[in-house]
Amino acid sequence: MEKINFNKMNLTDRDSRNIWHPYTQHKTSKPPIAIVKGEGALLWDDSDKEYIDAIASWWVNPFGHSNRFIADAIYKQLTTLEHVLFGGFTHEPAVLLSEKLLAILPNNQKKLFFSDNGSTAVEVAIKVALQYFFNKEEKKTTIIAFENAFHGDTFAAMAASGISFYTQAFQGMFIDIVRIPVPIIGEEEASFKALAEAIKNNNCAAFIFEPLVQGAAGMVMFSPEALDKLLKICQENSVLTIADEVMTGFGKTGKTFACDYLQTQPDMMCLSKALTGGTIPMAITSFTQELFDAFYSDDINKALFHGHTFTANPTGCAAALASLELLQTDEMQNQISRVNTQHLDFQKRIEKHPKVSTTRVLGVIFALEIKTESQASYYGALRNKLYDFFIENGIILRPVGNIVYILPPYIITNSQLQKIYDVVESALEIV
Ligand SMILES: *Cc1c(COP(=O)(O)O)cnc(C)c1O
Repeated sequence: MEKINFNKMNLTDRDSRNIWHPYTQHKTSKPPIAIVKGEGALLWDDSDKEYIDAIASWWVNPFGHSNRFIADAIYKQLTTLEHVLFGGFTHEPAVLLSEKLLAILPNNQKKLFFSDNGSTAVEVAIKVALQYFFNKEEKKTTIIAFENAFHGDTFAAMAASGISFYTQAFQGMFIDIVRIPVPIIGEEEASFKALAEAIKNNNCAAFIFEPLVQGAAGMVMFSPEALDKLLKICQENSVLTIADEVMTGFGKTGKTFACDYLQTQPDMMCLSKALTGGTIPMAITSFTQELFDAFYSDDINKALFHGHTFTANPTGCAAALASLELLQTDEMQNQISRVNTQHLDFQKRIEKHPKVSTTRVLGVIFALEIKTESQASYYGALRNKLYDFFIENGIILRPVGNIVYILPPYIITNSQLQKIYDVVESALEIV
C-alpha cells in the first residue's frame, strides 16, 4: 500500500479525508478554513490571512483569543489537579465557582448542577422539570417553548427548539411540546393568550425560553416587560420557568444576565458558552431551593440520576473563575458599553439604508435585516453569498437567512468594529 505523506498535504485536505463537520452539507459546502493562531479579536489561517472574529466564535469568547490571564489560570490548575470524578468527590475550583456564581445570579438561584455544553445544560433543566412533578406524583409532561427557539441539539433540547432546519428529521420522536409566539413589539397579546391557552389545554411542566434575545433565530428581540408578563402567567399556574441564558449570559445584553432586566425570576437558568471565556467546554444549570428539595428524600429513586463523566472538571472551573474575574473588572464593563455605543452609532448610520428593513441593538449584540422579496432560507443562497463576501473581506460573520448580526468579543477595538461595519455596509451593495 502506498504511504500517504501527510506533511505534503495542507490541513484542509487532511481534514476532508477524516472529519465530519457540524451543520455542514459536505457535498456542496466549501472546505473549512484552517486556523492556526488567535489573538484578541483576530484569527489567522494557514496562509497568514487575517480574520476579525465578529461573532466571538459562536458567542463563546468575550475576552479575546489566547487570553493570557485565563491561560495562566488553566495552566496552574492543570499542574495542580487537572480532573477528579465529581461523584462522591469535590474540589476547590467547583466550590469557589459556586460561591462566586451564586453571588451574581438572581437571588432565588441556590443550587448548581454542572455539565459540559449548552445542550446538556438544557437537557438537565428539562429532566429536572419533568422529574420534579414525577417526584410529587403529579402528571405534568408538556414543555412550552417559543416559536423559532434554539436550545441545542440533544434530544430534549432539540424538541424544545423550533427551527425546523435542525429538527425536521426527528419529528414525531420528541417529548410533548407546545409552541407559543414570541412577544415581539406589537404582538405581545397573542403571545400572552397562547401561553394561557397552552397551560389550560395541557399538563404543562415548564416553559423554556431564551430571555430577551433569540440567538439562532437571528437575534430576535423582545421586551423585559413582555417576558415578565409571561413568567407571571407561568407562576400563577405552577408552571416552572427555565431561562436558557447559554447565549445571553455573562454580559452580552449589557447586564450580567438577561434575567437581570426582569422583575420575575425564573426557576432555572442554563449557562454555558462564555462561562469559561471560550476556552474549555463547560455548562451549569442553576435551580431554586424548592426544586432541589423535591429531589431531597430518604428515597433514592427521587434523586437526579444524571451525570457526565467530566462534570465540574477542575480545569474548566478554573477557567470559569478567571473569566468571571475578568468580566467583573471596571475595564471589561467599560468595554461592553463602548461596543454598545459603537453599535448604536452604526445603527443610526445604517437604519435608513434602502436595503435595510430593520435594525436592533442590545448590549454587544447588533442585528440588521436585509429587505428581501420572499422569506430568505436559513442556509439559503442569500445567506451563502453574504457569508462568502464577509470571509473574502476577512470578517467572520454567519448571517441567518437575510439577517446579519454582529456579536464580537468585548475587547474588540473600535477600528476593528469600524472595519466590520464598513464591510457589512458594502455587503448591502451586492445583494
Ligand atoms: C448555543 C446554544 C445552546 C446549545 O449549546 P451547545 O453548547 O452548542 O450545546 C443552547 N441554547 C442556546 C440559547 C444557545 O445559544
